[in-house]
Amino acid sequence: MASEASAPRHIRLTSHHGGFGALPIVWGAATPAERGPIVGTTTRRSHRNVIGTHSGSYSVYRALAVAAGALKREHKADLTNTAPTDIIGPYPQWTDAAKIVSLDPWGAQVAEVFATELQAGYDIRPTIAITKAHVILPEVIEALQKGRLTPDRKILMDGGAACVTKAAIEPVWWLPGVARRFGCSESDLRRVLFEETGGMYPELVTRSDLEVFLPPIGGQTVYIFGDPRDLANPEVELTARVHDECNGSDVFGSDICTCRPYLTHAIEECIQGAQRGGVGLVSYSRKEGRALGEVTKFLVYNARKRQVGGDTADQYFARTECVAGVQDMRFQELMPDVLHWLGVRKIHRLVSMSNMKYDAITQSGIEVGERVDIPAGLIPADAQVEMQAKKAAGYFTPGGAPDQEELKQTKGRSL
Ligand SMILES: [Zn+2]
Repeated sequence: MASEASAPRHIRLTSHHGGFGALPIVWGAATPAERGPIVGTTTRRSHRNVIGTHSGSYSVYRALAVAAGALKREHKADLTNTAPTDIIGPYPQWTDAAKIVSLDPWGAQVAEVFATELQAGYDIRPTIAITKAHVILPEVIEALQKGRLTPDRKILMDGGAACVTKAAIEPVWWLPGVARRFGCSESDLRRVLFEETGGMYPELVTRSDLEVFLPPIGGQTVYIFGDPRDLANPEVELTARVHDECNGSDVFGSDICTCRPYLTHAIEECIQGAQRGGVGLVSYSRKEGRALGEVTKFLVYNARKRQVGGDTADQYFARTECVAGVQDMRFQELMPDVLHWLGVRKIHRLVSMSNMKYDAITQSGIEVGERVDIPAGLIPADAQVEMQAKKAAGYFTPGGAPDQEELKQTKGRSL
């Protein structure tokens, strides 16, 4: 069997019809039976009803494991005891094709809602997994020691561990809906996705009958403080942050931006909110460096620090644009989907200053009450460049935005 991966085999292109036995997908249908399961298996190709495969960017590692002979390509997941610890939904947003276009709302419950299809031999994988955890952060322990947080042994334990429900979500794109969000035609979207990935998925342009794409990108994780069912109740106070990945700050504590301090501040706010009888939510998206990637991000850091006059706030966006061609590639248009999956209709306290996130959330029909900015004492000195530039560009700031002269004066460290 070791020769399985290396034995010469015909390559079966799936760029033509012939999906005998493939189940139809009717996005936004009223019931999971009518919607149909997402089948991205690579073992029974005739069953596939999507473009791409499961696990987002990790599908490439799966291919490596098969190539190396470490994984049998026909391996079928044994899902015993993997069911969600908490049931999310179904909510009315799940059956509104315009509300959710970038994840499968039924993705956590496939074993239950597609039991018949699984029995019939379809390899249907969960695209969402829900579990429970204790999270221990030094900033939360410090808040306990300084008396800003108090343990209640339900949400927050004596030693500083916070009890959470967390969900990991893989991207599942319904292409007609994604195109509508970005204001382009579906055929243009398909063509550009095909071309800009170096021709990675020919079905994007040859199989217009396949409307669902499992893109090779990072997904997202949500952390819930309190009862997940309360997220859908607009009467229960919801404290929420939607955070985009920044490995340099989030994990390694780099002081050029406010990402980790803002994230840990949001967690503190979420814990306090949950202890007041509310619920807290942090949604974390894998969109490293404004979705430009870390290589581009570090190139921009150098360009900022080496420019004539040094790293000043008035040149902050210009330097990113010089290297990347755009200021930001995160495009928050798809971000609210996860909130609609959780049934959110109102965020009482949004722990974010981003106007782009605020606009995307409110334009998707979710009401936002108070906006919570980062406390001044948590902004590292070198991160003032970014903070002032963003405030001038439209970020929420109760203190007013800086003028051009102030931006010139706000200067970061040299290399
Ligand atoms: Zn950052």
